[in-house]
Amino acid sequence: MTTLPCGRTSEDVLLNLDEPADLHELQCRWCHAERQRLKDQNGFITRLLQTSTPEHEPEAFSKGILGKIASLGPRQRIWDVQDPATGLPQRLSSLELIKAIRKAFADSTTTQLNYTEIKATDAKVPHLRWKIQCHVSMADDSTVNAIEQQVLGFVCDAIRPLISWEELVVDLVIEDLHGQAIESVTLREKN
Ligand SMILES: [Zn+2]
Repeated sequence: MTTLPCGRTSEDVLLNLDEPADLHELQCRWCHAERQRLKDQNGFITRLLQTSTPEHEPEAFSKGILGKIASLGPRQRIWDVQDPATGLPQRLSSLELIKAIRKAFADSTTTQLNYTEIKATDAKVPHLRWKIQCHVSMADDSTVNAIEQQVLGFVCDAIRPLISWEELVVDLVIEDLHGQAIESVTLREKN
C-alpha cells in the first residue's frame, strides 16, 4: 500500500475510482495523479493485496509516519474576496469555492470534474482577478467547443454568488477516460 504525500493511500483512491472525485481529491494533486495512474493499471488490486499484509507495515511505523504526512494535506487557503451582494470585503476558503464549483458540475451528464484549483492572481485586497484550473472528462458524444462553454458557465454560476471579479481566467484541461490530457484551453470572462 502506497501512502501519498497528502496522507491518503493508493487504496483510498482505488476504492473511490468508480465515483467522481470527492472534495479532497478535487483539489489534491497527488490523489489526482494517483487516480490517473490507477485508471491505467491492470492487476493493481492483486499487487495491493500482496503488499498490504501486516508484516510489511508495522502499526507503530505507519502511525508515526502517517501522522506527519497528514499535516501536508491540501492547504485550505483563506482569501480576501469581495462579497457581490454587499460589495464588502469578506474571507472565504478555497474549499468553500471548490465546493460551489463541484455542485455546479454535479448534475452534468456530459462533463465530470476531476480536479480543480482556485487562486487570486492580483495583490489587491479584496482580490478581483482569479484563476481557476479545471480538469474534466467529457462524454464521447460531446464536443470540445460545447464543453468549453459549459465549463465556463458552470464556474461563473458557481462563484458569482460568492465573489466579485474583474477578470476570471479558467484554465481548462480536458482529459480522456484514462486521465490523459487531450486538450488544454484558456477561457476568460470579464465583468
Ligand atoms: Zn490527496
